[in-house]
Amino acid sequence: MNESEDLALFGGPAVRKLPWPLWPTADVGTELVLKEVLYSGRWALSGAYRGKESFEKRFARDFANYCEVDYCVPTVNGTAALTIALLALGIGIGDEVLVPGLTWVACASAVMSVGATPILVDIEPATLAMAPAAARAAWSMRTAAILLVHPFCRIADIDAFVELCDERGVPLIEDCSQAHGAQWRGRKVGSFGAIGCFSMQQSKLLTSGEGGAVITSHRQLYERLQQLRADGRIYSGSQQLAKLDLVEVGSVQGQNFCLSEFQAALLTDRLTHLDSENQQRECFVAALRAMLQESGLAALPPVDTRASRYVYYNLLLQVDTAKFSNASVDAIARALTAELNVQVSPVYLPTTRHPLYNPLGSPRIKGRPDLASFDPGRFQLPSAELARSRCITIPNWPLLDGVAGAQSVHVALKKVEKASLQLLRVDQTPSFEAF
Ligand SMILES: *Cc1c(COP(=O)(O)O)cnc(C)c1O
Repeated sequence: MNESEDLALFGGPAVRKLPWPLWPTADVGTELVLKEVLYSGRWALSGAYRGKESFEKRFARDFANYCEVDYCVPTVNGTAALTIALLALGIGIGDEVLVPGLTWVACASAVMSVGATPILVDIEPATLAMAPAAARAAWSMRTAAILLVHPFCRIADIDAFVELCDERGVPLIEDCSQAHGAQWRGRKVGSFGAIGCFSMQQSKLLTSGEGGAVITSHRQLYERLQQLRADGRIYSGSQQLAKLDLVEVGSVQGQNFCLSEFQAALLTDRLTHLDSENQQRECFVAALRAMLQESGLAALPPVDTRASRYVYYNLLLQVDTAKFSNASVDAIARALTAELNVQVSPVYLPTTRHPLYNPLGSPRIKGRPDLASFDPGRFQLPSAELARSRCITIPNWPLLDGVAGAQSVHVALKKVEKASLQLLRVDQTPSFEAF
């Protein structure tokens, strides 16, 4: 009989004693650009031109180049990116937008915020992204766009969605908030749909604490997106000292969703490190894959050969709960969190029952005759429910620790499996805090 050690949750020694790499990452280069902004006399795009191009404009150009598209418009956060993408495409009251039923709540709430109805669509087990067949089944006369998320560390079946959108003549919006730098058939994600959206919030692979961006190669959409994020203004073609670098157009109703110069400077600097950081995470994943192949303690998601590069915002692991005394993934995640000193989480609760998705209580749709169409309870998401009962995720920064980090995770899995009877004393109820 193997003696099991006490879980860290119950006072045993934690597996991981060393600190994890600090996230977000920064270095002297980051410090320099922040100082440059600090003493520049210009902290916002809407500040006067003082002889140097704004970081906002510079980041927009750098990120468009990185994504291999023509244009980028930075935004204050990912929610604003989704909002102006929907508005630029003319989506509003009476329109339905297909959104995945297992993702961050901002996707559905952004659709609601422009007056359109989010249709929660079930996912594919292999990617946890929206399932093409479920999208077809959810189609109606009112379907006006698909908001496709590349979730966790996977890429949705882009080919199937491009085909569906072309066939039906509706735009595809790619939400790449979890996939900075991922590639499909050799091209960066975000460049396949009409508009690609990104969040640069603290936990994302490229971050300025808060931040976001949209990308597109459509000139007309670009002009609208610029106005939508700067109160109807666009970059002036010619910069003049002491004057604003924006001209007033107002052909669409904008609002202020501009990124500050500090955030744009951070992003300009950190973008130059994105590929190497993504590579470090790949080393972690390769090492863990080899260890899991031997032990069978958990499974990494399957690889699609069309995905030419995966990136790891949240590493997904499918656990066989039978090996863990049939404890819930919530209990397993709680135990691993204590062993590893980093938050291991189950995947999102399906949006149909996510406590942060509460459209019926929102004044935005108060009194509308179609109020009932916003009821999340009208959708069925069996594959999302199944994934919620089987998968856990590890956030991106432990992955920067490479092989040593993978070892810690594998040792923790082994320890928790061996001590799994103790899991039955752990809170089994669903948590919904996830990155
Ligand atoms: C983080 C995230 C968002 C929201 O971004 P914010 O910057 O927090 O507004 C939207 N969609 C997905 C898929 C995300 O992961």
